[in-house]
Amino acid sequence: MINVTKPFLPEIEEYIEYLKGIWERNWLTNNGPLVNDLELKLKDYLQAKHLLYLGNGTIALQIALKALGLKGEIITTPFSYVATTSSIVWEGCVPVFADIDKDTFNIDPAKIEQAITDKTTGILATHVFGNPCDIDAIQKIADKHNLKVIYDAAHCFGTLYKGKSVFNYGDISTASFHATKIFHTIEGGAVVTNNPELLKKMAFMRNFGHETSETFAGVGINGKNSEFHAAMGLVNLKHIGAIMQSRKEQCKMYDKELADLRVKRPKIQANSEWNHSYYPVVFESEEFLLRSIAELNDNWIYPRRYFYPSLSGLNYVQKGDTPISDNISRRILSLPLAHSLKREEIAFISRILLRVQNN
Ligand SMILES: *Cc1c(COP(=O)(O)O)cnc(C)c1O
Repeated sequence: MINVTKPFLPEIEEYIEYLKGIWERNWLTNNGPLVNDLELKLKDYLQAKHLLYLGNGTIALQIALKALGLKGEIITTPFSYVATTSSIVWEGCVPVFADIDKDTFNIDPAKIEQAITDKTTGILATHVFGNPCDIDAIQKIADKHNLKVIYDAAHCFGTLYKGKSVFNYGDISTASFHATKIFHTIEGGAVVTNNPELLKKMAFMRNFGHETSETFAGVGINGKNSEFHAAMGLVNLKHIGAIMQSRKEQCKMYDKELADLRVKRPKIQANSEWNHSYYPVVFESEEFLLRSIAELNDNWIYPRRYFYPSLSGLNYVQKGDTPISDNISRRILSLPLAHSLKREEIAFISRILLRVQNN
């Protein structure tokens, strides 16, 4: 069986080494030494000024929205994972959808500008599949209208924009280190910012608002992560170079094998270095996509319709006018990609897709 992805796992001995330390210290969570060490190493890797390691990427979005004090309407993309939209609603704000660019699948800056009202306070954009948004255009709009910018950078481990880590842009960027992501800590996430005041605020928020054990800086939540999760991150970080390299090679193999398949691939943003974290293809029709999935499933291959459905159709939001996102989400499929995926498997998957097309 081949799934859309398979989490990377190191040799168990590498992880056990870290477990021994945890047993010796008997310090399991609450900002322990491994969490601190991972934060330093991630800061370094992501060239981040300030970074907080959190329980997951969804709590990262919620803390970012809360720390910026966003209220009213947030302009966001309909083409993302559900957590991008649900976090906005969870924080008591209203998501307003701006349609995506037909080539990059990222939020279209021109549509953002059209969606601004006097209730708009921020923009929450996703760098879809690790492909950076049109960051300069978005920042220009934000500056002009005095809006905060949060980037959902859940897919972006290792992505660069203008030679710098993509995590450097916007007021806050969020990461997910969920098991399905290119770099993972089983469950995990982070907020990244250049603003020391925001860092301070988010650090309190992550830990129930505690200032000292008996005083509180404000309302908080439990956004912490454990020593066991940090240990997985520290081990996996040692392998990230090999993981990134294998993804790149796998994407190249798909490109070659699928050269004759009539599908569209996302256009990578200019001035950026993509991390090859997903391999999405957009078919000519939903019918062709469904036939391809059926044939792959018959061969024990399970790609994923990602992102589908378009988030403007969720039953708890006001439907927006997002024809491009609606259309692409019906036709897009993420093909299997994982560190353990073999060359022959990519060739096999590709042959099946070409057979469906040519039948
Ligand atoms: C995975 C993901 C999230 C959620 O992250 P978790 O760590 O699973 O909570 C949010 N946004 C996007 C775009 C994602 O892919």
